[in-house]
Amino acid sequence: MKKVVKFGGSSLASAEQFKKAADIIHADASRVYVVPSAPGKRFSGDTKVTDLLISAYDKAVAGEDVTDVLAEIRARYDEIITDLGMNYSLEEEYEKIARHLKEEPSRDYIASRGEYLNGRIMAAYLGSEFIDPLDVIFFNDEGNLNSYKTQKVLSARLAETPRAVIPGFYGQGKDGKVKTFSRGGSDVTGSIVAAAAKADIYENWTDVSGCLVCDPRLIKDPAPIRYITYRELRELSYMGASVLHEDAIFPVRHSGIPINIRNTNRPEDVGTWIVESTCQKPDHVITGIAGRKGFCAMLITKAMMNSEVGFGRKVLQALEDNGISFEHMPSGIDTMTIVIHEDEFLDKEQRVVSAIHRLAQPDSIEIESDLALIAVVGRGMRSASGTAGRLFSALAEKKVNVRMIDQGSSELNIIIGVENKDFETAIKAIYEKFIAEDK
Ligand code: ADP
Ligand code: ASP
Ligand code: MG
Repeated sequence: MKKVVKFGGSSLASAEQFKKAADIIHADASRVYVVPSAPGKRFSGDTKVTDLLISAYDKAVAGEDVTDVLAEIRARYDEIITDLGMNYSLEEEYEKIARHLKEEPSRDYIASRGEYLNGRIMAAYLGSEFIDPLDVIFFNDEGNLNSYKTQKVLSARLAETPRAVIPGFYGQGKDGKVKTFSRGGSDVTGSIVAAAAKADIYENWTDVSGCLVCDPRLIKDPAPIRYITYRELRELSYMGASVLHEDAIFPVRHSGIPINIRNTNRPEDVGTWIVESTCQKPDHVITGIAGRKGFCAMLITKAMMNSEVGFGRKVLQALEDNGISFEHMPSGIDTMTIVIHEDEFLDKEQRVVSAIHRLAQPDSIEIESDLALIAVVGRGMRSASGTAGRLFSALAEKKVNVRMIDQGSSELNIIIGVENKDFETAIKAIYEKFIAEDK
């Protein structure tokens, strides 16, 4: 049995948290590869080290003084080292970072130092070998993971290293320099290491006892999810269930390695199992609810749209030409709605509209902003009738106006669009109807 254990930022925010992580590692000899994040928040209002590093970078490029912020970063690590009672110094590393900021700083390099330094401390504390992801995780020309090269190099390295600490969040870009994943990306590193190690389980240790039906910041003490499939989790994390990075399932999915989300502060809790497929019946018709604000919709109308060959392609061409991806595209006989991230769209709005007019000659284009999307996800929906009916009656009872509906062809999810201001009310209404009342 071989396990890869990833610890999130709050699980390694202080010496006390480091000790909990070490106890977890020592409690099970099969926990052989450790993927640490950078120190996160110790209390609400605290700043994550990654955010401190990014602000140091921003200051440096703006020509501002970075002495204070570097001192703050250094204090975070020195406090951990001292409180762990270690005889260990990162002095040379702090100097390297300060030097780098003075020369031609790279944002990714600076941001990655949070994980790098924490990994160094963790390796020394556990007496384990340190593997720098710069040498074993590779990105391709497009800036995406080069899975082939990574799996080849990393598995060979792990085969000769029975126990190791491999920091999360970064690897080597095509130019040979440090490149990071997007924020929260240590989850992805954990998954890459699990796949390369051919691990039996990828344990992801965080500050909640698994993936919960809903974001705990929106609903107090939401019900936990015991089993969830990769596909369900992907839908939820993409739509805002930030407990696991939305791309973290890809590396393990092919080899069917289950992910177990666990709570560092409550190791006795079983957490959530993320699996390929399961005969475990979900506790409720829906497995989870997630959502995000900040979308807008373009409503395009044209008489006889449905019989015009190539209309959809022309509209999508206008988006492609402007480098915009879309989220959803529900359509009617003479209408088509395209849902897009508002922040991506804002600058290019008028260019896109005129391109659609030019290419597709619609009758009208109307833009609606301040939309929130909510995904109601569950493998149980396929076999339950009346789910959509219950969903819409829950929203109607709370007077939430539904602006858009899209049911994925997999019958795994129903996406609804509501106004930003109705977001919280809508999530609560759905939770009440499907989870709280469904006892
Ligand atoms: P880590 O630093 O361990 O990677 P994150 O902060 O990235 O932890 O993710 C854990 C947090 O995700 C939780 O504290 C919680 O606030 C948030 N979260 C959002 N949606 C969910 C959900 N559906 N289930 C559990 N946690 C969620
Ligand atoms: N430390 C990085 C971040 O804050 C990566 C991670 O936590 O997974 O985004
Ligand atoms: Mg995270």
